Amino acid sequence: MKNRLLILTAVLVTANCTFARELSAPKSAEADTTKPGLVRIAGNATMDSPAFQLLTELSDEVGARVTGSPEARKAIEWSAAKMKSIGLENVHTEKWNLWKGWTRGPAEAVMLAPLHRPLAISAMGWTGSTPTGGVDADIAAANLFDLEEEAKNASKFRGKIVYVVAQGKPKQSFWTIFGNYASFLRQLHAAGAVAVIGGDFGFKPEGMHLTHTGILGFFVDEEIPVVSMAKEDEGQIERYLAEGKSVRLHVNIQNRFTSGPVESANVVGEVVGREHPEQVVVIGAHLDSWDLSEGTTDNGVGVSCVLAAADAIMKSGVRPRRTMRFVLWTGEEQGFGGSLAYMKQHASEIKDHVAAVVLDNGQGPVKEFQLGGRDDLIASFDPFSDSLENIRDIKVTAEMELESDTAPFILAGLPGINLAQDPAEYKFTHHSEADALEAVKPDVLTQDATIMALTAYWIADRPDRFASPWPAEKTARMLRETGQFEKINAFGLWTFGNLGQSPQ
Ligand SMILES: [Zn+2]
Repeated sequence: MKNRLLILTAVLVTANCTFARELSAPKSAEADTTKPGLVRIAGNATMDSPAFQLLTELSDEVGARVTGSPEARKAIEWSAAKMKSIGLENVHTEKWNLWKGWTRGPAEAVMLAPLHRPLAISAMGWTGSTPTGGVDADIAAANLFDLEEEAKNASKFRGKIVYVVAQGKPKQSFWTIFGNYASFLRQLHAAGAVAVIGGDFGFKPEGMHLTHTGILGFFVDEEIPVVSMAKEDEGQIERYLAEGKSVRLHVNIQNRFTSGPVESANVVGEVVGREHPEQVVVIGAHLDSWDLSEGTTDNGVGVSCVLAAADAIMKSGVRPRRTMRFVLWTGEEQGFGGSLAYMKQHASEIKDHVAAVVLDNGQGPVKEFQLGGRDDLIASFDPFSDSLENIRDIKVTAEMELESDTAPFILAGLPGINLAQDPAEYKFTHHSEADALEAVKPDVLTQDATIMALTAYWIADRPDRFASPWPAEKTARMLRETGQFEKINAFGLWTFGNLGQSPQ
């Protein structure tokens, strides 16, 4: 956290001591000559921002955009056209392939006994279907915290709808359980279970009568249909099961897979640097979304912030020392497909990357600059954060966002900077039917876009290079020491082997 007391002390001491002033010359926005540019950008970004207009267009004219779908292709064209009309340089798309495409069809559930009533469900992404017309089946519970035991007796789930519930105490870490979940679902399918109520991993979805869709593992598809069910409906089922009553449902879930890979693309535009054009600061967000609503908060907000940041920089007529590269990735929701493809396609330039600034935590105000494990950068970043205090008080930490497009940059040893937002309302809109424009406040959106523009420009325009990638050994050690190994391994993204292990 930035230390205002220390800064105050420095100001008091240097007020009547020239020698001390030279010694403690702050590496502030003023001292590093970025301030005139920042002031112009702040003016354009706050007084003439297209952010909410862009978000409205994306929500209402493009709408939901699942990677590989025709709607996602429209979103790619829309973004490239916006980048061109904003005036960015080198606007282009970079193609990559997702292993399989998926389309949501109807999902209905009706309780047949003990009561007769409709239930609220949504299929999880990249999961399968019941036979046409659906099936009637009894529910059998499976304990998330005992998946190994449950899998040994998988034959008891034959012909059943499996209700996954977290009971008792976990024997493994959540991330290890998460890593094993996809294979458990495959075991249920092999045993002849008909469907799984377990989209929320044995927990209950947030919100009143909301379901949340999503993927169940990185680049994983399941033949068995898996659904998220509203917590009120789950609660009633759980009470019946606890009383020993049998619960019978009718479920009809119809989804479609493509037979092979589907093409997608990231959208890229630049402001080429005036002194070190080869050095790159990435400003990014994911363009793809889920499909229960408009994909406004996840991550239309990030998309509109990236585009509005580009707009403010172009309108200000500033050209930073280094290249600012605006990137909209697809495939984030299936396991960072687009940003991982970006790292591969730009492998030879990663040594020249300085940082990535990413916004993907919903609709709330930015509260924290998370520097992605790079605690060595906090001291030089603090004065910049302090310079924003009339916009918002934002703390600076080395926290890591490993569940978004920041992760591939962090794994490459770079500061994958997450503009962490207040999550109070995002937990309801995230992947749900409530992910719509109604959840967004235009003033908060505009401030977030302003903060994104200023952050990226400040990094790109500093006289000295803000950061260089750490060697793999150092990154691996940092990730192990901060307890991230299990999570990254569960995502299938641990590529460091034994690196970073402390000597025995
Ligand atoms: Zn997202």
